[in-house]
Amino acid sequence: MRDSFGRVTDYLRISLTDRCNLRCRYCMPTCGVKDIPHREILSFEEMLRILRIMAGQGLKKVRLTGGEPLLRKGVDRLIADISRIPGIEETLITTNGILLSRMCGDIKNAGVKRVNISLDTLDKEVFAGLTGTDRLDDVLKGIDTTYDSGIGVRINCVPIRGINDRELESIALIARDREIDVRFIELMPIGLGAGFEGISSGEILERLKTAFGGYKEVGKESRSPAFYCSFEGFKGRIGTISPMSHKFCESCDRLRLTSDGFLKLCLQYPAGADLKTPMREGISDEGLERLILETVKKKPLAHSFEKGELTDRRKMVQIGG
Ligand code: SAM
Ligand code: SF4
Repeated sequence: MRDSFGRVTDYLRISLTDRCNLRCRYCMPTCGVKDIPHREILSFEEMLRILRIMAGQGLKKVRLTGGEPLLRKGVDRLIADISRIPGIEETLITTNGILLSRMCGDIKNAGVKRVNISLDTLDKEVFAGLTGTDRLDDVLKGIDTTYDSGIGVRINCVPIRGINDRELESIALIARDREIDVRFIELMPIGLGAGFEGISSGEILERLKTAFGGYKEVGKESRSPAFYCSFEGFKGRIGTISPMSHKFCESCDRLRLTSDGFLKLCLQYPAGADLKTPMREGISDEGLERLILETVKKKPLAHSFEKGELTDRRKMVQIGG
């Protein structure tokens, strides 16, 4: 799949549900988001149909996200089915980790080799204030169990001024003793995120340099937006993802599918297409393929968060990150 600027699109992030067992203040309103009626949510069969068609057009990588993807019943069955689609090379998950200690065996058996676990703080009080729950221990147990099970673990942290900025060094230390990459992601002004102040990757690296000494630049992995560094004595790497200070739109390879079946082209803009309605109205596979390819052509060149332009009305919890 190629957009009109020649970029190859081979990565789809699917939001399995808008529901979440946390209420991170920069992502999800404390009262939650309005429940989408069950019938409006894509079924696994509908997702698999879209994936088979996209895989025929070059899709290689799928990431399950949400809301909290592990809340969707039968997620291990879905993963196993996705992994069997010819052409799909990797099925990955981004999770808050709460349910991982219980579920990592099932998702490993289903074919998941690597998970991204979101962790913004190691302080119980900060966790409670940020997420509205006291379940930090569940997340830490989820990280340990998953790592010990042999699934690759990456930690994603969103630094936010006045919330977790005192802890960036301690979070980075997770990468010292285990082969876990810790990645710091710049906050984007999407939904509730617009009400908080993020911290730039440059500032983070400066602070880590002061705390841990110099680092070697490892660089980017192919097509990943993360820039990696290796600090002396650390087993894992430190990554920075800089959508605000170093836009990576020119190499954007991804699309997003919301839980209600909207194929979303760019994090910022509402551009995209509803796939669910035509599917339920009986569109043929050829018709659906054509709709997807035509939609991909409309992918915007780049976000313009820096200009403060109007963003999609969806909250991050409804997009999947
Ligand atoms: N519930 C899962 C989790 O927390 O990993 C998956 C969904 S969550 C929306 C995916 C990621 O998006 C999380 O790492 C979260 O920190 C990040 N995120 C949410 N809002 C963001 C924002 N405004 N800017 C940057 N990252 C954001
Ligand atoms: Fe839930 Fe993830 Fe959003 Fe936190 S960041 S509210 S865990 S979807």
